[in-house]
Amino acid sequence: MATIIIDTYLCNGCATCIEMCPQVFRLDPVSNKAELIDTEIEITDDIYQAAAYCPEKCIEIKE
Ligand code: SF4
Repeated sequence: MATIIIDTYLCNGCATCIEMCPQVFRLDPVSNKAELIDTEIEITDDIYQAAAYCPEKCIEIKE
C-alpha cells in the first residue's frame, strides 16, 4: 500500500490539495496546514495530480 506524506513545515496552507481531493486532504484548523483525513487510502490519479499542483511540492507519495 502506498503512503502519502505531507511535509507540514513546507505546507503554506493554500488548500489547493483540499480543493482537488477533499476526500483525502483537509486543513488542520489550528496549524492551518494540510493533513490526511485517513491514512489508509487508495492512491488515485487525482492524488498524484494534487501532489503535482502543490506549490510547495510538499506532498510525497511513496509506493
Ligand atoms: S497544496 Fe501543498 S502547500 Fe497547499 S495546502 Fe496542500 S500540501 Fe499545503
